[in-house]
Amino acid sequence: MMKKEMLLRKSLFQSSLLLNRKGLNHGATGNLSCRNDNGFIITPSGVSLENLDSNSMVEIGFNGEIINSKSNYKPSSEWLFHRDIYAAKDDIHAIVHTHSVFSSTLSVIGESIPPFHYMIAVAGGDSIRCSDYALFGSQELSNNIIIAMEQRKACLISNHGMIAIGKDLNEAINIAIEVEHLAQVYVQAKMIGTPKLLNDNQMLEVIDKFKNYGEWSKD
Ligand code: 13P
Ligand code: ZN
Repeated sequence: MMKKEMLLRKSLFQSSLLLNRKGLNHGATGNLSCRNDNGFIITPSGVSLENLDSNSMVEIGFNGEIINSKSNYKPSSEWLFHRDIYAAKDDIHAIVHTHSVFSSTLSVIGESIPPFHYMIAVAGGDSIRCSDYALFGSQELSNNIIIAMEQRKACLISNHGMIAIGKDLNEAINIAIEVEHLAQVYVQAKMIGTPKLLNDNQMLEVIDKFKNYGEWSKD
């Protein structure tokens, strides 16, 4: 096995453990992938964490063809939206999808998260959109996600969950953790009052400042 492929498989496994430990995924929910030279490596479909290891990850090409599988597992049922995001965004090398509680709660309402907090800018703009509902694993869902992800590094998926993407797994996971935190604060704020929103200028100022701020800065 190529060294790079081995490292990506290992990172995907460790990241799956991390997301579970942080409570962002449970059982077999959610999926993760990393871009590789001829396609991408993705978590297997419907496999619980306790049955997962580096060899469970499936390497597939952009038409879904299996390049390298060390197990009998199928690739994630959501490989279409992973494929379409990589095709749409050259600088993206990792994708994280979760069914985390607060993002899923907001996804059921089906509305974008507005700029109620300056950290909304970690997703790349002044909102975190919610894609329209479609059946999990469908091309229609992927098409809806691509629209919601325009100029963004995260979105909610209606009646389902959330996606975060990044230049590597570390960035995608950090964004997923931040989006889940924002979703929790937003749900709680709505329970005690009407969240006060930041205006366009205030958000532009934050987006600009993020260009030179720690791990959120652009390469
Ligand atoms: P997979 O196990 O096939 O990745 O499905 C989990 C999921 O979250 C579907 O949206
Ligand atoms: Zn899902």
